[in-house]
Amino acid sequence: MPYEDGNSAVPGPGGLSGTPPAELPGILATVGRTPLIELERLAPHLPVRLVAKAERFNPGGSVKDRSALSMVLHRVRTGELVPGRSTVIESSSGNLAIGLAQICAYFRLRLVCVVDSRTTPQNLAILRAYGAEVDVVTTPDPVTGELLPMRLRRVAELLAATPDSYWPDQYANPLNRQAHLTTMREIAEALDGKVDHLVLAAGTGGTLGGCAQYIREAGLSTTVHAVDAVGSVLFGATASCTRLIPGHGASVRPKLLRPADADHVVRVTDLDCVVGCRRLVRREAILAGGSSGAVVSALDRIAPLVEPGATVVVILPDGGDRYLDTIYDDDWVSAHFGDVAKLWQDEWAGEQGSPGA
Ligand code: PMP
Repeated sequence: MPYEDGNSAVPGPGGLSGTPPAELPGILATVGRTPLIELERLAPHLPVRLVAKAERFNPGGSVKDRSALSMVLHRVRTGELVPGRSTVIESSSGNLAIGLAQICAYFRLRLVCVVDSRTTPQNLAILRAYGAEVDVVTTPDPVTGELLPMRLRRVAELLAATPDSYWPDQYANPLNRQAHLTTMREIAEALDGKVDHLVLAAGTGGTLGGCAQYIREAGLSTTVHAVDAVGSVLFGATASCTRLIPGHGASVRPKLLRPADADHVVRVTDLDCVVGCRRLVRREAILAGGSSGAVVSALDRIAPLVEPGATVVVILPDGGDRYLDTIYDDDWVSAHFGDVAKLWQDEWAGEQGSPGA
């Protein structure tokens, strides 16, 4: 297994402290340097400057483009991955898979994504459009009923059977963390280093680890708030329930994750995510994904820790387009959380303007 400790130092594509990579060709040059958006309407009750880092503006649509680029580019540059010959194999059906599909298509690398039966038809279509192959695992682990161990077993089988193959292994690869030195560097430079609070969603721990490392190395006095899911094991809790919204949280603690990188942890429910997303689109006209809703809903819990006049940055990992059948579908919301009309009536009570987002 590569990356046994998950934490060893591996030179990233951009070198130390998130120095931007040397000029990259074609579409690759558009990864990163995502915009910051001032959020003046989202939480008017908070006496702070609230700013969003909008990662949907990456070319593959999410924060994971940075990780995909980082984990593949390093190997292409060292000659370990050879265009037209090597195969990349990864267990992912979400944003990382789409990021990898794009980067592999650019470098003419074969990509096999091991997915499971819960993968959305839209994501499968995107992967295939980039030319990725999809290997679907349908049978859960007979003991635990979980699909993830079976996906990892399938990855191992494919690696053994495929010459010249590489498993990026986002849950343990330090390049996943290193990719986010640039995320934090971009934020800090745009705000002249005045970032009092950073609020981000944690899954593999890549965004958390890279941002925290930059904060330490640059000597910033930023408090890092990590947002996890209720039912996830990331910060020491035991897995307790099935989670409906992908992105943040995990049922197995990733090797990459260092809990100490977070100064404060907030756990949110699936319903919190839905409410946060709807609030963001209603108040700021930003259509964002589920973990962005998680971060937004966490703000109320962070508020008592935030001093007046502080600058608070939230990272929005992806856009809402991939969640139209769930978070933004009233029937889906009603089926899982009860009467949607009542939900929005309570949520928007006392607000002026048009009814429910
Ligand atoms: N939000 C979304 C939408 C994601 O796809 C991911 C990655 N699984 C995360 C948050 C968590 O990011 P990280 O893996 O860097 O912890």
